Amino acid sequence: MNPYTIIEKKQQGKSLSADELAFMINGFVKGNIPDYQMSALLMAIFFRDMTESEVSALIQIIIDSGKRVHFPDTGVYYADKHSTGGVGDKVSLILAPLVASTGLLKIPMISGRGLGHSGGTLDKLDSIPGFNSYLNFDQFMAQTDKIGCALIGQTGEICPADKKLYALRDVTATVRSIPIICGSILSKKIAEGINGLVLDVKTGNGAFMQRYEDSLKLGKALKRHGEAFGLQVKALITNMHQPLGYMVGNWLEVLESLDLLQNRGPADLRELTIELSAEMLQLAEPDVSITEHRQLLENNLAKGKAMEKFLEIVHTQGGNVKVLENPASYPHKAKYILDVRATESGFISDIDTYMLGIDAISLGAGRQKSSDSIEPEAGFRIHIEYAQKVSRGDLLFTLYSSRKEAIEKLQKDIEQRITYSDNLPKSLSLIHI
Ligand code: URA
Repeated sequence: MNPYTIIEKKQQGKSLSADELAFMINGFVKGNIPDYQMSALLMAIFFRDMTESEVSALIQIIIDSGKRVHFPDTGVYYADKHSTGGVGDKVSLILAPLVASTGLLKIPMISGRGLGHSGGTLDKLDSIPGFNSYLNFDQFMAQTDKIGCALIGQTGEICPADKKLYALRDVTATVRSIPIICGSILSKKIAEGINGLVLDVKTGNGAFMQRYEDSLKLGKALKRHGEAFGLQVKALITNMHQPLGYMVGNWLEVLESLDLLQNRGPADLRELTIELSAEMLQLAEPDVSITEHRQLLENNLAKGKAMEKFLEIVHTQGGNVKVLENPASYPHKAKYILDVRATESGFISDIDTYMLGIDAISLGAGRQKSSDSIEPEAGFRIHIEYAQKVSRGDLLFTLYSSRKEAIEKLQKDIEQRITYSDNLPKSLSLIHI
């Protein structure tokens, strides 16, 4: 087979066989297909889409690039949640320990790093000093069974093809593609050995699929393909028209997660976390009402059980728990902290969330090329929200970075992400369906 003719075939909108896809992807993982040919194929898929059978082959090939977890059939329910990507989305950091703290099911969670403008759970976890997100296959299974949850990324053993493709997509603007997102998300989730999956499909200007119809299409495709592979799938479409919570940036998002785990934290983050967690419990225990599941989760937050479980997970994976208990001792401090104030008055009628994601990367919270390293302390706090009334001089953002030029430039530019209006804008719901 010839990579050139395979790329050309997809470029012409033709369907690729499972063998052709396997040739390209397995060759890429082994290093026989270079980045530039894989990028060209991804771009061709991006423009030309894939048939149902191509998507199904893609998922299978990515799973088969590594090992697949099979938990013993002892009646335990294994489940996970995955988001299609947003800005400030730290739900997994809270949901995983919160749900695990109920003891009703177990969560073997494989997450990703930042992707395009969106942040990644793995980069957030890696901002915790000492945290090991590279457990091997046996450690991953053993920890899930022992303490109810393990949090890792794609490894050389599990979904290595997604790990490599993900890093390439991150820097080649090939993320916004329904078949590629299905391949990436579902391969990881199927390889984890779970029974049930809750999907947080984002919509709005900070999502990969910005238009509601496209998000719905993505949600349906994820559900259809997930079910075809034997998963129970529940998909919610949720709003990403502004960052979730107030913090954007890896360590800043860990801090905000700690807040919620201690029963404080922003209302939108809390509402979404509880809802997704309750849906997960509902998959495992369908005879109990969703209201009772919500109550149990609220109780576990209030009683500190979710926080306890988070500390247990972090400790088990080698992370420094003392720093979580005393964040002032965090070793990485931003060299520069700058405020941005409103130069106008009015209602906030739009927040360019996609650009805010790009801004966070420029401060050091993400990668512009795959070899870039992350600065865990970098990011920003947004002080306002959609539909809020602000007056000239009110605080809009606090920026954190160790990159002088980038932070000074953003201090001048970031207000452009905000649109003001004289009238109260229409309300937007956080959870559509
Ligand atoms: N999360 C993933 O793991 N992959 C995607 O493509 C998007 C979100």
